[in-house]
Amino acid sequence: MGFTFLNMKLLDRKTAIITGASRGIGKGIALKFAEQGANIAFTYLSSEEKAKALESELSAFGVTAKGFKSDASDFDSAQQLAADVIEIFGSIDVVVNNAGITKDNLLMRMSEEDYDRVMQVNMKSIFNLTKAVIRPMLKQRSGSIINMSSVVGVKGNAGQANYSASKAAIIGFSKSTALELGSRNIRCNVIAPGFIETEMTAALDDSTVQAWRDSIPLKRGGSPEDIANATVFFASDMSAYVSGQVLNVCGGMLT
Ligand code: NAP
Repeated sequence: MGFTFLNMKLLDRKTAIITGASRGIGKGIALKFAEQGANIAFTYLSSEEKAKALESELSAFGVTAKGFKSDASDFDSAQQLAADVIEIFGSIDVVVNNAGITKDNLLMRMSEEDYDRVMQVNMKSIFNLTKAVIRPMLKQRSGSIINMSSVVGVKGNAGQANYSASKAAIIGFSKSTALELGSRNIRCNVIAPGFIETEMTAALDDSTVQAWRDSIPLKRGGSPEDIANATVFFASDMSAYVSGQVLNVCGGMLT
């Protein structure tokens, strides 16, 4: 059963855009948002079937849900997405910039192409969609933008120089956005997940995964739902006085 306050769902009547929600953390966020009454526009890059299945799953909560095939790294696609969402849903109250990729390698072996692609998908995407939603949010004089960073953006990680650079950049971008838009009641916060068990981490071998779990104070990897719960907080009016913050959701890895 969902967490409700005086029988009101936390995201009732809000419209949210969630990027990269065909699987993993983004899908977990979409499901939790729908449970809390939000109408959902979500994006994906290639997982057409999973997106269709998610649309039906979300609709079962009695909300409006639509998946958009939209490359987050492309500026014009973000403009088009925002215009489509306004036309179909009428407003954009919450944006979760979640789409992200890894192309890990030691710096010695990292190609320029892999560096550029990770920066484009993970960081430039946030510039793209934030630019696209500023105008409608300014008009409404409200909005909550939530950007998905990572604990490795806070502390670095060997083999992930490109990824951790993109995730650190997200933090600087988000703090600046919070400062620029706060006077218009637009909030911007960051979630820095620790080790969350999804397809992204399924690429790692078993012993690496177990070593990660053992090193976490709470002794387990996180779930998409763990991240979704924190995202609901930032999306809802429960966090009305919280902006420019980074919340590490990492089982106590970072203290
Ligand atoms: P995932 O399972 O690999 O899912 C990635 C999602 O992003 C998919 O829906 C994918 O769509 C979408 N995507 C990828 N490139 C895209 C693009 N160019 N345009 C639009 N959508 C795109 O990843 P995850 O583990 O859920 O991670 C989600 C976010 O959390 C990422 O930003 C990641 O960096 C961050 N994070 C994850 C962890 C972790 O431990 N898992 C830890 C810290 C931070 P398709 O299915 O169509 O490809």
